Amino acid sequence: MRLALVGKPGAGKGTQGVRLAQHLGVPLISTGELLRRRAESPTAADGDLADVLARGELAPDDFVVSVVNGAVASAPGGYVLDGFPRTLAQALDPKAPALDAVIHLAVPDEVAQRRVAERAAGRADDARRDATARRLRSFHSDTEPALELYRQRGMLSTVDGTQAPELVWDAILKAVTTLDTER
Ligand code: ADP
Repeated sequence: MRLALVGKPGAGKGTQGVRLAQHLGVPLISTGELLRRRAESPTAADGDLADVLARGELAPDDFVVSVVNGAVASAPGGYVLDGFPRTLAQALDPKAPALDAVIHLAVPDEVAQRRVAERAAGRADDARRDATARRLRSFHSDTEPALELYRQRGMLSTVDGTQAPELVWDAILKAVTTLDTER
């Protein structure tokens, strides 16, 4: 199964993604992780990636698609993507990895903001309130149109991410089971 977990920063993609990938027996491919790793030892082609991440801006679509493709190439049996696609251009890119379904972990902005402030686990972007605000703005302007596309295609499941982690997991499992029987 080829799934994407999409949600605002702090929606719980990381936590639930690990569990979902384990459950399905496929790798979890986190775009944010891939980009952060890449920013630690950048090549000339990566430009100012570390600054882009710290400011909470989106990395360029072409670049992200190629980074995710690199990881997907070694996952022939399916995958869970965490944080991809984040824009309509990424969703529509013919070179982007194929998806069977998209799960949206939905939380209000206030919940996202609070959770990110609370975790601030050494990530430059989490520690900056302006960066979190920017990430939330880009969720509304760039990611919501991508979710709308999947909704129109009948590929979107929305899960209430404000619930306790166990309940979020139950809801994800239910969504995945439904998807599996529909295919
Ligand atoms: P969060 O979802 O908490 O913002 P991520 O680890 O998913 O954290 O992403 C961290 C940063 O990596 C984003 O703020 C953005 O700069 C970059 N990034 C991640 N995924 C994408 C993507 N699909 N397109 C562009 N930039 C991305």
